[in-house]
Amino acid sequence: MRGKLHTLRTYGAAIAGLVRLAWQTSPAFFLLAVGLTLLLGLLPAANILLTSALLQTLVEAVQTPAAAFPPRFLLLLGLLAATHVLTQVAQQTNTVVHELYRTRVTNDVQLRISAKAAAIDLAYFEDPAFHNQMQTAVNEAAFRVPMFIDRLLVAGSTLTTFGSLTAIILLWQPWIVPVLLGSSLGTLWIATHFASVRVRVLAERAETERKKHYLSTLLASDQAAKEIRLFGIGGWLLDSLRQVLDRTYRQDRRLALRELSYAGAAALLLGAVQPALIAFTAWQTFAGLITIGQFSLYTQSIIQLEAGWTQLMFIQSGLHENTLFAMQLFQFLALESQVEAQRDGRAAAPCARLSPPRIEFRHVSFAYPGTEQRVLDDISFTIEPGEAIALVGTNGAGKTTLIKLLAGLYEPTAGSICLDGVDLRALDRAELRAYLSVIFQDFTIYHLSLRENIGVGQIEEIERIERIEAAARRSGLEQLIPTLPHGYATVLGRYWDHGHELSGGQRQLVALTRALVRDAPVLILDEPSAALDIHAEQRFFKQLLDERAEQPERTIIFISHRFTTVRRAQRIFVLTQGRIAEQGSHEELMALSGYYAEMFNLQAAPYTNPASEPRNTVEIDTSQP
Ligand code: ADP
Repeated sequence: MRGKLHTLRTYGAAIAGLVRLAWQTSPAFFLLAVGLTLLLGLLPAANILLTSALLQTLVEAVQTPAAAFPPRFLLLLGLLAATHVLTQVAQQTNTVVHELYRTRVTNDVQLRISAKAAAIDLAYFEDPAFHNQMQTAVNEAAFRVPMFIDRLLVAGSTLTTFGSLTAIILLWQPWIVPVLLGSSLGTLWIATHFASVRVRVLAERAETERKKHYLSTLLASDQAAKEIRLFGIGGWLLDSLRQVLDRTYRQDRRLALRELSYAGAAALLLGAVQPALIAFTAWQTFAGLITIGQFSLYTQSIIQLEAGWTQLMFIQSGLHENTLFAMQLFQFLALESQVEAQRDGRAAAPCARLSPPRIEFRHVSFAYPGTEQRVLDDISFTIEPGEAIALVGTNGAGKTTLIKLLAGLYEPTAGSICLDGVDLRALDRAELRAYLSVIFQDFTIYHLSLRENIGVGQIEEIERIERIEAAARRSGLEQLIPTLPHGYATVLGRYWDHGHELSGGQRQLVALTRALVRDAPVLILDEPSAALDIHAEQRFFKQLLDERAEQPERTIIFISHRFTTVRRAQRIFVLTQGRIAEQGSHEELMALSGYYAEMFNLQAAPYTNPASEPRNTVEIDTSQP
């Protein structure tokens, strides 16, 4: 009982939310649409009244041949013509208003969904349930909301018509109304029931829908195109897509056929009621109880009433279905961020240039949400302002996770991370990120111009080309510019017309330049040189670590597997299985003859000992300090 009450309350809240959304999107459109709705709702009754009165005037005129042509007839005709013109104009205007209003509402909902997706905690993206919810919100709810409003307005106009026609019938034979409505209760139940089933089916198969989307975008993606051809997996992927499509089609077909059989039976019942009522009206006319004009008025009213009722039932089922989808949309929009949430009482990002903070990890442990495994296990260290730190370790040791925690994308499960003694938990995310310039291994190249791709690093300064050029000089990207068809204006990626594809190393240089353009005192690079050629790498790190001319106070933290680069760091942290196993300078760690020394020697061996296996992935220059 309580569960039902709760559902009912959520249902009511969803309807209220939908109406609020419709109003907030555009009060002017809302009022216009409601006005037109009411007008269009009243016009059919006016039409029936006028035609019936016209008929009656005509009958009376025919029955009294000597009488002059009644002026009342002309008046009625004029009114009928005016009603007709008004109906036409109102309908045309209504179509345009609905069309524009629908677009406004769809855009508004889409923006709300995208804004939520852009602001929500990263952890949500690792939860399949979140993706299912977002899938339903994007694919269904976004267009269901304007549909709901559309239907609500149509319901409004149908109800107005319905009300006026019901009044006409009630004043004549009140019992007709319950007979007409009662006979279609079955149809009402069927429509509502199947609407709920459809919503449930779609929600249950959200994952299948995502699979459909995934496979079709995979087959069309330029990134996978090469492998699909080389491994010849196009047919295999297509088969999977076909199976998913077939499965959902069969499910839809089964549901549609079941609904058809139920609705057909109900329609048969309803079909018998209307002729019986018309026969009754005809009998009343024969018996002289009503005039011909009244016969016309009542039969038209009965026919339209029934049509209106049927339409109302369909609208109701549509409204019900759309409300159920809207409930899911509102649930999605109500998801709350923890990590990305505003911190109380703290200012937003400070405008003044920040100085590098002292970074402290105090007994930090971390397990990803929904998992048990401690990816970081009781880690403590301090990084002094302006230090250059390298993080090394085997794959999966927890290096990237450590950076994610420092970047405030996740919060530690235990322990704390402090900047100048202030716990990250107390810092507003914008405030925290003003300290940091981070490039992860899986950085993004946007399908935008090269200039914008760099400029997004410091979005407020995106228009200042001289900043972008200066960063490109520092990273070494500058040398690439003359080879590009439109220099900094070159659009990257083949997604658009005239897009230019960069090589892996060139893409990485763009990402590094983006990191450098950011005016932040802590620079964090996750495997920044993995795709760079040896010259580009040497040049980049020479600028970054050895010369440090332009940003002398910057703290630099980088992850790398290349020891030529790693050894240049002032301090090196060696991570194994979520713990810091060793730390110190290159020389100190080599003297320790521990894990670092072992990794270093393993990489250097093919170059220092010609007898050992040649390695084609790593290059090393052990002579360099
Ligand atoms: P590294 O950067 O040292 O290669 P990571 O920090 O990326 O290692 O990963 C450390 C461990 O955390 C790995 O065992 C990995 O499987 C796990 N891991 C990484 N990302 C996630 C995630 N989003 N959800 C759950 N586990 C993760």
